[in-house]
Amino acid sequence: MENYDVAIIGAGVTGAATAYTLSRYELRIALLEKAADVGFGVSKANSGIVHGGFHYPLTTLKGRLEILGNLMFEKLQYELGFPFRRCGIVVAAFSEEEMKEVRKLYKRGRENHVPRIELCDRERMLHLEPKLSPEVVGGLYAPNGGVVEPYRYVFALTELAGLNGVELFTRCEIVRAVRKNDLWELSDASGRVFRAKYVINAAGLYADEVSRIFGAEEFKIVPRKGEEFLLDRNSKAYPSKVVFPVPTGHSKGVLVIPTVEGTTMVGPTAEIAEDKQDTSTTRANFKQVFSLARKMVPAVSERDLITSFSGSRPSIKGEDFLIEPSKKVPGLIHAAGIQSPGLTASPAIGGYIRDLLKEQGLVLREKTNVVRSLPPMPAIRSMSPEEADLLHKDDPAWTRIVCRCESVSEAEIVDAIRKGHTTLDGIKFYTRAGMGRCQGGFCSYRILKIIARETGMTPEEITKRGRTGTILRGHIGMREKKK
Ligand SMILES: Cc1cc2nc3c(=O)[nH]c(=O)nc-3n(C[C@H](O)[C@H](O)[C@H](O)COP(=O)(O)OP(=O)(O)OC[C@H]3O[C@@H](n4cnc5c(N)ncnc54)[C@H](O)[C@@H]3O)c2cc1C
Repeated sequence: MENYDVAIIGAGVTGAATAYTLSRYELRIALLEKAADVGFGVSKANSGIVHGGFHYPLTTLKGRLEILGNLMFEKLQYELGFPFRRCGIVVAAFSEEEMKEVRKLYKRGRENHVPRIELCDRERMLHLEPKLSPEVVGGLYAPNGGVVEPYRYVFALTELAGLNGVELFTRCEIVRAVRKNDLWELSDASGRVFRAKYVINAAGLYADEVSRIFGAEEFKIVPRKGEEFLLDRNSKAYPSKVVFPVPTGHSKGVLVIPTVEGTTMVGPTAEIAEDKQDTSTTRANFKQVFSLARKMVPAVSERDLITSFSGSRPSIKGEDFLIEPSKKVPGLIHAAGIQSPGLTASPAIGGYIRDLLKEQGLVLREKTNVVRSLPPMPAIRSMSPEEADLLHKDDPAWTRIVCRCESVSEAEIVDAIRKGHTTLDGIKFYTRAGMGRCQGGFCSYRILKIIARETGMTPEEITKRGRTGTILRGHIGMREKKK
């Protein structure tokens, strides 16, 4: 049984950003994640937008943390090297009625001190974003908005936290918590036990169940599902900025998003889901999303669709983030209800939780020898032929291309496996292999062979994302001729 100062339950953006922030102090920290890899919860299935800070008032915690988090992305990218681009956001209005709402957003943006936010007429909107429909009547421009690759962001946060001593345990579902001698004794489903003075409940959609395990507050996390549709990187719809409609109710609406890696994404929908694990997409929503997206950007075409996915926002009564110490039990801090803009706010959530821990009595002493950045992660698709040649001389696996759509080499896949990503999805999110037009049709089998070779796992042991259900049976490469 191991003793920790802090145990964090859940390795999505909330848990990972908290681990990253706390890893700079003389603390023993455990990051406990029930999935086979980090970021496999809501944090892998979202729009990847660093929001501009004009949707929520500063009276809400999410509004305040969104503004702060937004400002922190350049520094984080500099340290961690994940894909991020501050491309800006436009909100497009198509009637005078919608312009009234845009003026309210502009006023809120000004009150929130959003830098260089602009109220625009039709000409300015079309100049800023030529992909917009000529029917646009005006809108809003927030140059501080951006796009980020959410999974690479979570991987990078946990990697640096790991280099600074945070211990990560995957396939570790916490099912029991008992208070003993001023410590929490946490047991996972396989019987492993961890002792911690403080526990952070960063369990996303399951934060209500985790709270119950501790005998803490009774609240309900309601999944609000969002379906997203990804278009090929050749799509003519790729805008230069994130295109938002005028928001309605609880949703920011269907957006047209220029992902940081060059594909176009349209979505998300917003519907209450019965089942937290429901990740389906429907034909009806597909039709609706495309029609709404096309109204703003006419070049959006169903023919460019390469895949669809969905994620559910962990919404809570009151619709704000619930980040506070439990009032019922000692040593537990909830980070619950982290729906949008949770990704944007996450760097600030890490700092907020650190400050709450300090108020609760945790002594924070900064380490003197902190690792401050990750080594660069070479990717063959962004190298010059000369650079590729140099790497090839070191290891020919650098020029053996496994994923042709996204140009991912064998060396990059081996690097991901050696860093602990041994499921097909783990490798996909780490390297982008399988994310392109053919969606892994060509490379999945080759990746399976590399995983088997590198880890000694049998075909039955290799899974898509770590749950039961293998991809292959028998011997990989059985029918291949021996050289
Ligand atoms: C469709 C959609 C689009 C979105 N778009 C944006 C956007 O563009 N910008 C933005 O800022 N935000 C966006 N969001 C919101 C953002 O994705 C979330 O706020 C954020 O990912 C929540 O992160 P989290 O770490 O709190 O939860 P999660 O990522 O779900 O992490 C919680 C983790 O806890 C683990 N866990 C659960 N129970 C246990 C247990 N008992 N033991 C151990 N581990 C456990 C889970 O496996 C999971 O990995 C979007 C959300 C959705 C659904």
